[in-house]
Formats: sequence, structure tokens, C-alpha cells
Amino acid sequence: MPHKHAVILLIAIIISVIAGLASGWLWGETMVSIKWLGDLFLHTLKLVILPLIVAAVISGVCSLGDVRKLGRIGGYTVLYYATTTAIAVLIGLVVVNLIQPGVGMTNLSHSIPDKIASKEETGFSDIILSLVTPNLIEAGGSNQLLPIIFFCLIFAAALTTIGEKRKPVIAFFDGLNEAMMKLVIWIMYFAPFGIFALIAARLGMAGGGDAFFQEIKSVGLHVITVLTGLALHFCVLMAILWLIAGRGRDYLVGMGRALFTAFGTASSSATLPLTMECARENDIDPRATRFVIPLGATINMDGTALYESAAVMFIAQAYGIDMTLSQQAIIFVTATLAAIGAAGIPEAGLVTMVIVLSAVNLPLEGISLLLAVDWFLDRFRTTVNVWGDSVGAAVIDRVIQKS
Ligand code: ASP
Repeated sequence: MPHKHAVILLIAIIISVIAGLASGWLWGETMVSIKWLGDLFLHTLKLVILPLIVAAVISGVCSLGDVRKLGRIGGYTVLYYATTTAIAVLIGLVVVNLIQPGVGMTNLSHSIPDKIASKEETGFSDIILSLVTPNLIEAGGSNQLLPIIFFCLIFAAALTTIGEKRKPVIAFFDGLNEAMMKLVIWIMYFAPFGIFALIAARLGMAGGGDAFFQEIKSVGLHVITVLTGLALHFCVLMAILWLIAGRGRDYLVGMGRALFTAFGTASSSATLPLTMECARENDIDPRATRFVIPLGATINMDGTALYESAAVMFIAQAYGIDMTLSQQAIIFVTATLAAIGAAGIPEAGLVTMVIVLSAVNLPLEGISLLLAVDWFLDRFRTTVNVWGDSVGAAVIDRVIQKS
């Protein structure tokens, strides 16, 4: 059973989500005035991410013992990420083919949105290149987590090979990790206020309930398609949790605070500290928590992958371009890559969608169709992204227990 204080905090967060939606809906732009409160919450989360992941990944990898063990656990982790992401993309393709949300769309745009225009050249090699940074400090400064995690992984692997001298270094990172987790627990108590403000202000920026409802109506079927797909994938992950990790509803409730924070912030990276703390409270082996969750928050994005495939097919349908089975196979592969390449920040998936659209020669202008509702769908896909990482930690926990 999750602890009592965790359940109380979860209830407070659920109330704050409902209150945020209601006040943003009713009072519209007035609610933008409390945006600073949400930003304060985001800043505190972002503040701890860097030291937290550095300490967690290094102490997590070192606690595995030797490099071979890292290889084995790493292998299972990548297998889990790859399988669940592939299932997500497939679900996206199936629902969009069944519902056909784009057929008969009018009001097609002929200009490429600003935030996409500069990304036209994004390609596969950019994803590989983003693994290694020439400048660690700069990567840390601009919150590029993937190259930092990559560096910590190889640094920790090297550390395990240097004999006695490794001990004080590992003890330092262990202590740093404990202190950072303590900070996360304190920040968590601020979550209900922060999430309330983030949601109310964002809905307010969209002009309040009525204005937003009009926006949603114009692409209503697209919204229904994506939400159906995400709900299905959430259930698939629940089944994996139950069948492979031997856990169920208690784990879902225990991770609830992280899931609602994902909904509130639309960022898996900002949610990362809470995801790690919730997993720890749910007795996930620290070796799984410290390694699987940070890596997952940056590359395992099931919700984003599903969204990419469904949205690209929606654009094709809207522009009346028929996608053959082999073109859909290309979408399958590139949507997976685009999800891996997407950073864990708000609306990152929309930008990496350029990779998928370019691969099948679809007009980038199509992204304009998605702009108005993307911030809203982003919250749901980020929740699924964080759920995917949480289930992954439980699966790897089971692997570690069995070995
Ligand atoms: N906002 C998502 C995340 O942080 C990424 C995306 O799909 O845009 O996980």
C-alpha cells in the first residue's frame, strides 16, 4: 500500500488539476496572472535535475558492481524501451487508420509555422550527434540531459574499473544523491500549488474554456484519435506491469503524483525528480530507479511516438495524400526515432515531427493544423511518457531481483 502522506498529497494534486482546469476555463486570461507561481514550481524542479541525474546515474551504475552487469541490465532496458515504443507507434497507426480523422478537413495552411521552419534540416544524424556533447558545461547550462547521461554512464563504467580509488568518489555521489532526493521530497509539497497555477494559466493563455473549445472542435476527431490511442497504450503498459513486473493498482496510485505532475508541466524532464522519488517510495530497487528513469525520461517516449505517427497520418489524410503500407512502415521507423530524439520539454514532439514528415514527403505546413491543440495533447502524451518510464523501472526491478 502507498504511504498515507503519499495518498493525501495525491488527492491534493488531483484537486489542484481539477481546480486549475475549472478556473482557467471560467476566468480565462485573468488566470495568466498566476503563471509565475507555476514557473516557480518548474524552476525548483529544473534546479535539482542536473545534480540529481549526475549523482543518480553515477551511483546507480556503480552499485551494479561491474560493467558486465551494466551491459545485461542495459540490454533489458533497451529491449523494454524499443518494444513499448514500437507498440505505441503501432497503436497510433491503427487508431488513425480506423478513425480517419483528417479526411474532409478544410482550412489547410500553406505556410510553415515559425518554430518548425528552422528545424527543416533536422535528420537522423542529428539524433546520434546529440548523444555526445563537445562541452559538458554548455550542455548542462542548456539542460541537454541526454549527453550528460551518456557521459555519466561511461564515467561510471570507467570508475568501476579503477580499484580502491573509486571508493571516495562513489561515496561522494551516493551522498549527493541522498541530499538531492531530500530536496525533491520538499519540492513535492509545493506541487499542488504549482500544478494548479500551470494548468489555470495555460488554459487562460488559450483564451479560456469557450475559446479553447472552438479550437478543439475544428480538429475534434484528431483529438479523439490521439486520446483513444494514448488510453489504449496506457492499458497495454498496465498489462506489462501486471504480467512482467507483478505489480498493479498500488503501483499506479504510488506513481500518481509523478503522473499528474507530468500532466501539469508537460515535461518529462521536469517531472523526472518526482518520478524517481515516487519509484523509490514504491520500493523499486535503487539500481533500477537511478539508471532506468533518467535514461527513460530522455529517450523512452511512448506517448510522443504514438502522437507522431497518428499526427503525421492525420496530416496526410487532411491533404488527401494516400499513404501506402510501405510509407506507413517508414512512418513507423521514423516516428520511433523522432520520439527518441525529442527532448523531455513541452511540445518537443511537434518539432521532431519534421523528421517523419520529411521522410514520407508530406508538407511541413501540415503542422499548422496541430498547433492550436498541441499544448493540450502534449500533457496527455507526457503523462504516458512518464508512465512508460515508471513501468520500465518496475520491469527492470523484477529483472534485478531475479538475477
Ligand atoms: N512534452 C513531452 C515530454 O516532455 C515531449 C513531447 O512529446 O513533446 O515528454
